[in-house]
Amino acid sequence: MILYKQSEDIRNKLNQLKGQDKSIGFVPTMGALHEGHLSLIKQSIAEKNITVVSIFVNPTQFNDKKDFEKYPVTIEKDIELLERSGADILFLPSVHEMYPNGLQALSTYDLSQIEHVLEGHYRPGHFQGVCNIMHRLLQTITPGNLYMGQKDYQQCMIIQKLINDFKLPVKLNIVPTQREESGLAMSSRNMRLSGASKQKAAAIYNTHLFIKNNLLKLSFPQLIEKAYVFLNNAGFEKIDYIEICDAVSLKPAKEYKEEQKLVVLTAAFIEGVRLIDNMLLN
Ligand code: AMP
Repeated sequence: MILYKQSEDIRNKLNQLKGQDKSIGFVPTMGALHEGHLSLIKQSIAEKNITVVSIFVNPTQFNDKKDFEKYPVTIEKDIELLERSGADILFLPSVHEMYPNGLQALSTYDLSQIEHVLEGHYRPGHFQGVCNIMHRLLQTITPGNLYMGQKDYQQCMIIQKLINDFKLPVKLNIVPTQREESGLAMSSRNMRLSGASKQKAAAIYNTHLFIKNNLLKLSFPQLIEKAYVFLNNAGFEKIDYIEICDAVSLKPAKEYKEEQKLVVLTAAFIEGVRLIDNMLLN
């Protein structure tokens, strides 16, 4: 695996590879790698791409400074995992490399209502930060294939909009969420949970399964009411949202309609750690 820290160097290398008709698969991450990240890398390799992984904890997408400061950094272990994963190139830029004009000189993206619901409501400015970094990374790497996790469902919808709006020549591949045996979605944030809380946190997955299995039996308000009870009983101290939404627009859905694709999305705190997860329902 080759490591690059400068945009210009990685751009030159990738141009050379593209000249040899190689396709580039790109997996952007914030590090603290786990099996979830590795599944994206595996899919990129399986689809015969030269696989580029980036590790960059993007300051502009954290609306809470403490959350940014607490974000786990495990770079040596990450590099070992990446070596074993078969990834070809690691891009490890500095903040200055990605934001040469400073963190205030940001672009503004018109993302419509999807920016302000769910995560966007609870983390104002988050998706502007995500678009700023993703647009810069995509312009540097110019991959043919981009791999992102369904775990961050709204993020995938936002990036698909960015790709469409700017006519970026890249295909977004959404990879299914990797889970612990308990059902808990793997996440770098799980490192901050005790063993007992990790077990309790699987209640999000079980609650989503309950909603999926009872979609036609109970009304949506009844399903959501039960979901809040399940999570409170499991020990979640605060629930930002549990919502059943249209799977494309992410507008709230009020009742079941056969032709509408639905997704349930949840964000909730356990032991002070904010977890998110989702499940496609039909
Ligand atoms: P992050 O490092 O948290 O920014 O995640 C980098 C990429 O890995 C994003 O596309 C995430 O959606 C994806 N990812 C994170 N957790 C998982 C998971 N449990 N399963 C699959 N993909 C994941």
